[in-house]
Amino acid sequence: MPYIKIDVEKCKGCGFCVKFCPQGLIKLSEELNDKGYHPAIFNSDKKNSKCTGCALCALMCPDVCITVYK
Ligand code: SF4
Ligand code: SF4
Repeated sequence: MPYIKIDVEKCKGCGFCVKFCPQGLIKLSEELNDKGYHPAIFNSDKKNSKCTGCALCALMCPDVCITVYK
């Protein structure tokens, strides 16, 4: 099953991946990373949605923080 890994310490919290994931599987954390941003995290609340490995999130990330595994 496809899944993603997000490098939370590189993330600047721009929210592009949140906006573009067709499954709504990414959200911004309420916690801050070391840079002081709210980083993107996998949205485990979305129990009825599954990552399809489409890689839109990784393509949209300007800081190359997301790796997609298929
Ligand atoms: S690979 Fe596609 S479905 Fe999976 S988290 Fe990224 S945008 Fe969402
Ligand atoms: S697109 Fe990249 S930098 Fe922006 S919130 Fe998502 S992981 Fe972070």
